[in-house]
Amino acid sequence: MSKFFTATKIFDNVTQILGLGGEQCYLIEGGEKALLIDGLTGIGSLKAFVRELTDLPVELVLTHGHVDHAGAAFEYGACWVHPADIGQIYNGGDPDRRYNFVLGNRRGAAFQPKKDDVIPLCNVRTKPVYDGHVFDLGGVQIETIAVPGHTEGTLVFLDRARRVIYSGDACNPNTLLALDGSTTIETYKQSLLHFMEFFDAFDVLYGGHGPHAVPKRIIEEAIELCDEIMAGTDDQYPMEFIGRPFLYARGFTGDFKTRDGRLANIAYKKETIFNK
Ligand SMILES: [Zn+2]
Repeated sequence: MSKFFTATKIFDNVTQILGLGGEQCYLIEGGEKALLIDGLTGIGSLKAFVRELTDLPVELVLTHGHVDHAGAAFEYGACWVHPADIGQIYNGGDPDRRYNFVLGNRRGAAFQPKKDDVIPLCNVRTKPVYDGHVFDLGGVQIETIAVPGHTEGTLVFLDRARRVIYSGDACNPNTLLALDGSTTIETYKQSLLHFMEFFDAFDVLYGGHGPHAVPKRIIEEAIELCDEIMAGTDDQYPMEFIGRPFLYARGFTGDFKTRDGRLANIAYKKETIFNK
């Protein structure tokens, strides 16, 4: 038992690992090596936890550079990442920021981590990964699809054999498109259309927050929302999230339930709808 992590097998060879801030990553084991998709926030040793789950050599790849996904890079000292997101790993990597992210998501919880539990920042050897890259784990292939939007360097990973996508924060019920390093809505729509080229190859998305798989129709819905945002016909629902003012394409109740039963929602800013 770990105080910091919870492991759940979602397939024979795939373990979903939950961190203290509600963030999640995925360990996929092949015949020769394992791929860790995302690295949580870097509180407690994820590397040691993963070592208990598999004896295989482990490579870390990031769906994007945000702190709640990149933490293990400071333990492994190396990771695969899209070059556009390298700066994010360090910009947000400040230990205080990561500590506060987790505490902010654990109000009232019995176990609270200590400041000493935060893995310190270090230099990371980044290996570039782009759209189309295939990770061959020995009998298990994982394909890379670039979906710029949430960040410029956002990637998702396709396991055709399992018919699933590991999507990080690329497309979910609260897709944030108005952070530093996010693309415009116009670019995001193009990314989603590229994502749709793989639509027949999978059924669900396992994301970086929220434990359950989301049906793939969320991608089609997100494209419709992009169209509405660009046409100015969406709800433009003002709402603060993580201390920032956003507009949401759909009004929602506290648990991100939209009025029309859509799974998708997009948080954006008026200034970043169209490419310049
Ligand atoms: Zn993110």
